[in-house]
Order: sequence, then structure tokens, then C-alpha cells
Amino acid sequence: MAQNILGRANSFLQLIKPVTNSLSNNVRSNARLLSTSFRCHSNNRPEIAQSNTMLDVGNRKIFSEEHDMFRESVRRFFAEEIAPHHSEWEKAGQISREAWEKAGENGLLGVNTAEKYGGIGGDFLSTMIVIEEQMYSNCSGPGFALHSDIVMPYLAHYGTPEQIEKFIPAMVSGKCITAIAMTEPGAGSDLQGVRTNAKKDGDDWILNGSKVFITNGYMCDMVIVVAVTNPEAKSAAHGITLFLVEEGMPGFKKGKKLEKIGMKAQDTSELFFDDVRLPQSAVLGEVNKGFYYLMQELPQERILIANMAQASCEFMFEETRSYVRQRKAFGKKLANLQTIQHKLAEMKTDICVGRSFVDQCLMLHNSGGLDSQMASMAKYWATDLQNQISTKGLQMHGGWGYMWEYPIGRAFVDSRVQPIYGGANEIMKELIARNILTDK
Ligand SMILES: Cc1cc2nc3c(=O)[nH]c(=O)nc-3n(C[C@H](O)[C@H](O)[C@H](O)COP(=O)(O)OP(=O)(O)OC[C@H]3O[C@@H](n4cnc5c(N)ncnc54)[C@H](O)[C@@H]3O)c2cc1C
Repeated sequence: MAQNILGRANSFLQLIKPVTNSLSNNVRSNARLLSTSFRCHSNNRPEIAQSNTMLDVGNRKIFSEEHDMFRESVRRFFAEEIAPHHSEWEKAGQISREAWEKAGENGLLGVNTAEKYGGIGGDFLSTMIVIEEQMYSNCSGPGFALHSDIVMPYLAHYGTPEQIEKFIPAMVSGKCITAIAMTEPGAGSDLQGVRTNAKKDGDDWILNGSKVFITNGYMCDMVIVVAVTNPEAKSAAHGITLFLVEEGMPGFKKGKKLEKIGMKAQDTSELFFDDVRLPQSAVLGEVNKGFYYLMQELPQERILIANMAQASCEFMFEETRSYVRQRKAFGKKLANLQTIQHKLAEMKTDICVGRSFVDQCLMLHNSGGLDSQMASMAKYWATDLQNQISTKGLQMHGGWGYMWEYPIGRAFVDSRVQPIYGGANEIMKELIARNILTDK
């Protein structure tokens, strides 16, 4: 099935005429480097347990030297273009459009899109470098990963040549910001309970309903909306369709930016659809196949969240290690207290064990072999670990850890949502258990 989807996506991509883009030389050389990735694999690359710090460039056997060079440029981007503005964006509840376009100019959106469509032609592992570096910078504002690694694959896999041509180059450039709207006030975990619906009117569809908690929802120029199109289907799953809804369409309204306890610079919004008239060209894939597409794409969303969680653990560990090495109590450094040392030892061991499994899943996904069960295991395990590490790390910072100016405090609140979205961890356990107990 994965091969089929990839084959289909490739054949659609062949149909798009090359876009003239303004990629910098730096980005073009990244593209050349990434297209040769894996050539320089070396068994000498240390794992994170063996590295000086978990954030070192050049560690982990899943990556190559070409990936390292890409990572360095991504790290520079987050340090120079994102981190200096993040506090201001936390107050605004969103990042700037300029930041999206700069990410596009630097080749960080849709990293695995071919160069002739505006991307830099990297592999899946390269896309993971972008999210890891974002977590290492502790800047949760940009919703780049949702746009690049969750929304874009729906278009690549199920879009028509016209839809791909219209949206993918614009998404890669950062000029078209995207979102995906599944959740409703009355339907989260139970996706089959969605009420938003679209009814046929001549050749068009009329969309009505509302969505909530939509990442990039306030800024989005296009959103994939999950809607019921056949209420009489034998089960709800057989009557759901995906629609591409664009900013400015009459009847499409955005609610206010929701006030969250964390991820404060990320715009999360309600969306309202009041008799939105959609042409047939707004249907993504086939009518009534939407639920099936969601089930196909959710494993990538889950391994992405798992990797975000894992990278955040690595960041929080290094923050905590630095802090206890300089903070004094009772006349000596916190790092000299045995209880602190044991806690650090436990944290490091837990994080390194997690990294092994997450990297295994990333490698499998890079070669098309990750299944839904393993993606669910990684998501549940890594996001729970992230919350344990954020609690322990904050505790070791004492009162300072509770202050917004301290990175561990921000990482702590950002962690809390991870076991909830992308399929709550309780649902992950349902999926894992189903696989355990189903006769093969
Ligand atoms: C910051 C943020 C960003 C988000 N971004 C998006 C987005 O971009 N697009 C989008 O569509 N959605 C998004 N969501 C929504 C998110 O995916 C849902 O919140 C999530 O799926 C849970 O749904 P719910 O909130 O309705 O909780 P509910 O489904 O009501 O669940 C409440 C609790 O009950 C548990 N539960 C539910 N069913 C079962 C069961 N069968 N067995 C055991 N336990 C169960 C859940 O695990 C949870 O702990 C976002 C949410 C947040 C907070």
C-alpha cells in the first residue's frame, strides 16, 4: 500500500511543471547534499548516551555527514530567525508571516519535496532534523511540522495534479500556510462522531459546521476539513470526505486565537463554516474515502510527535544538567548532591532508551516500513517520558524553574499537550492492544 501511494504521488509530482524559485545557493547545496544522504554512514558515530551532550551534531547512526551539515544550517536558522522573536510572539499568540517565508527561503518547509517543485529534495530523516532542531531551540511557536509533515503528505498522496501544482510550491515557499481540521467541540478522540457536513448542490458542495483546537488555524490560507458526506453510510467511517477550504471563501470564518496554557506562540483556533460553497476541485482524493486517508496518514503524525517529545527530553536534560552544575545550595553545587546525581542518571538512562526505539521507528519510516502499532507505541511512550522529564527537570530548577524566563518552565507547559493531541495516549494503547490481540 505504501509503495502504491508513493508511486501515485511521484507520478502526480512528475506532472507539475518546474517552479522558478528563489532558493539561495546554500539551499541548493543542501539539496545536493541530501540527495546523496546515507553515503557517508559510519559506525563510528556515537549514540546520544556516548556523546558529550545529547544535542551534539554528528551523533546517532541513523544520520550521515550530509545530514549533519543540514542540521547545522537548521540550527543556525532557529537561533537567528526564530529564538530572538519568540517572547514577542508568545504575547501575540502567533508567529509572523515573515518567519514562515524565511523558513521557506531557507528550504525548511516540505524538506522532502523535490527541488523542481520548490523543495530541497531531502529524505524523511531530513524533515526530522527540522523538528528536532526546533525542539532543541525550545521554540514551540512555528507550526512548520504540521504544515510540512502532516498536511503536505495528504496533498502529495491524494491530490490531483492541479491541487498539487496550486498548493505544494506555495506551501514550500511559506506563502501558503496550512492546517488540518478534524476535531470538533463534540468529537475529538472519536473522529467518527464529526458533525461538520457537506451536501451536494449541483456540481458544488455546501459545507456547514465548526472545528476547534486547530493548529495554524488563525493564520492558515488553506485548511483540510474533515466532513460527513454520507450520513447514511453503513458506518460513519464510510461517509467522510476531505475538503480543501481556502481563506476568503464566503462563509469560512476563523474564531479567536485560543488561550492555551503552553505553546503560547502557536496559533490555535476555532473555525466556522456557514454554507461555504465548494467546487468539486476542492475535494481531496475520492468522496467518502476521507476516513481511510486519515488512518493511512496518522502514523506519520504519531512518529513525528514521538520524535518531538524525544528531542524535547534531550533539550530538557541538557538544560537541567547545566543548571545543577552551577546552582549552589548548602555551600556546594547541586550537582554534588547524590540524590541529584541519581536523578540525572535515571533521566539520562530513560532518555537514551527512548531514543533507541524512536530512531528505530524513524529508520523504518524512512524506508516505508513503520506500522501503525509501532508509531502508536513511540507516541505514547515518548510523550509520557517527556512529561516525566519535564517534571523532574523543573523540580531540580526549584522556584526558578517555575519562572517563565527559564527555558525549563516553558518546556514543561509545552510538554503537557503532547499525550493529548495526535490521538490521545489512551487511544494509542487501544490501537496497540488491538494489534496484540488480533489473530494475524
Ligand atoms: C494545542 C492543541 C492543538 C491541536 N491541534 C489540532 C489540529 O491541528 N487539528 C485537529 O483536528 N485537532 C487538533 N487538536 C485536537 C486534539 O487532537 C484533541 O484534543 C484530541 O484528539 C483529544 O480529543 P478531545 O480533546 O475531544 O478529548 P476526548 O476525546 O473528549 O477525550 C478526553 C479524555 O478521555 C480519554 N478517552 C477518550 N476516548 C477513550 C477511550 N475509548 N478509551 C479510553 N480513554 C478515552 C482521552 O484519552 C482523554 O484523556 C489539538 C489539541 C490541542 C490541545
